[in-house]
Amino acid sequence: MDGERFDLAIVGAGLNGSVLALAAGETGLRTALIDRLPLTSMTEAGFDGRTTAISYTSQRLFEALGVWAEIADLAEPILDIRISDAAHDGRASPFFLHFDHREANAGDPPAAAMGWIVENRFLRGALLRRLAACPSVERIAPDEVLETTRTPDKAELRLQSGRQLVARLVASAEGRQGTMRQEAGIGARAWSYNQIAIVLVARHERPHRGVAQEKFLPGGPFAILPMRDSEAGEHRSSIVWTERASIAKRLLELDGPRFQAEFVRRFGDFLGEVDTTGPRWSYPLQLVHAERYVEKRLVLVGDAAHGLHPIAGQGYNLGVRDIAALVEVLVDAKRLGLDIGAADTLERYAQWRRADNFTMVAATDLLNRLFSNDIKPLRLARDLGLAAVNRTPPLRRFFLRHAMGLVGDLPKLIRGERP
Ligand SMILES: Cc1cc2nc3c(=O)[nH]c(=O)nc-3n(C[C@H](O)[C@H](O)[C@H](O)COP(=O)(O)OP(=O)(O)OC[C@H]3O[C@@H](n4cnc5c(N)ncnc54)[C@H](O)[C@@H]3O)c2cc1C
Repeated sequence: MDGERFDLAIVGAGLNGSVLALAAGETGLRTALIDRLPLTSMTEAGFDGRTTAISYTSQRLFEALGVWAEIADLAEPILDIRISDAAHDGRASPFFLHFDHREANAGDPPAAAMGWIVENRFLRGALLRRLAACPSVERIAPDEVLETTRTPDKAELRLQSGRQLVARLVASAEGRQGTMRQEAGIGARAWSYNQIAIVLVARHERPHRGVAQEKFLPGGPFAILPMRDSEAGEHRSSIVWTERASIAKRLLELDGPRFQAEFVRRFGDFLGEVDTTGPRWSYPLQLVHAERYVEKRLVLVGDAAHGLHPIAGQGYNLGVRDIAALVEVLVDAKRLGLDIGAADTLERYAQWRRADNFTMVAATDLLNRLFSNDIKPLRLARDLGLAAVNRTPPLRRFFLRHAMGLVGDLPKLIRGERP
């Protein structure tokens, strides 16, 4: 095939593909970013109603790439996290776990926050604007990869538009439903949680004061994430309300007042009057963890490699760490005049990321199994566990530093440096 030549072809311009394209493009790698959807559709209000909890270290990568300046004013700092167990009636148990951002940093400069809540549409918008200004990145959308051929020295992509690309390396950032992984013969551990996450914005009378709350209800976790006040001055929180799939479907069909009544039963009255008028989104939850992250001239990043339960708000943060490691490995290879798509270059990436991803996939899966039920002995054990961690500052700091992404061999971008 005689096609247009790139160093890196990225399939998927979601949150992971876009950051990878920007990070790679900023180092001068000629990068193609392909998505089947028009990129402008991704910032429309109805496209993605979620917010993302950007961890302390993911924020440092955004800062290093010049993206943070565009979203800082739209991001709400997370100052406290409160975790509690709750029964069917929504009443929280007296045992809880509390994290305060001031506890986290032994050694580093004090953290301004544990993380930030940002609306996905703002994140996507900022990334797309930065990409448009990056001369090394060509955005190819809407278009779709029809066929990929990977040979020992290159990858060739045939697109629906008729364009043909030749790249040293293809990155699948196609998300959980991606097909390149299977086409490359890479298996995965995958199962459905039989849960659906209902996502909405709640407006409330009293300010949240930067506190993120997670209540473990029998149907699944109910997260209340602090958002920036609206332009009209309304206090707002982003809700990720996980329920068993059959119940979630019925809840989503309820009219406004009945939905509101079910919501308030779980949310409580700690923020005064609450209003749930507005759009509701829903996301079926499943786990997908690829057995390998690399194959000949192919690398998996983000949800294409590991899609996990949102119980800990860490899925995207793992993807950001993948990207930081991958770009560092590619840049090191390029500086030494080596082939960026060679097997040993890719293996370095795979080894760097495996343990961190595996730990988080296993931990989130276990947490969901342990808490999403109403089995009395389990309830007692987990309540005592929460209370024990809460009373043990070194344990609290251990979990907090993991959630902030401060643990392990951190790639340069995650330390806020350019690779
Ligand atoms: C309810 C919920 C809440 C969450 N909250 C958090 C949180 O607070 N913090 C956190 O860290 N994570 C969170 N996550 C996880 C996070 O949203 C995901 O990890 C992230 O959005 C995945 O992005 P991605 O780019 O890998 O995949 P996707 O968003 O799935 O993007 C894939 C892109 O690839 C394109 N594509 C696919 N195949 C092709 C093809 N063959 N050709 C062309 N284009 C293709 C698609 O059109 C799409 O645009 C949450 C997830 C859920 C469900």
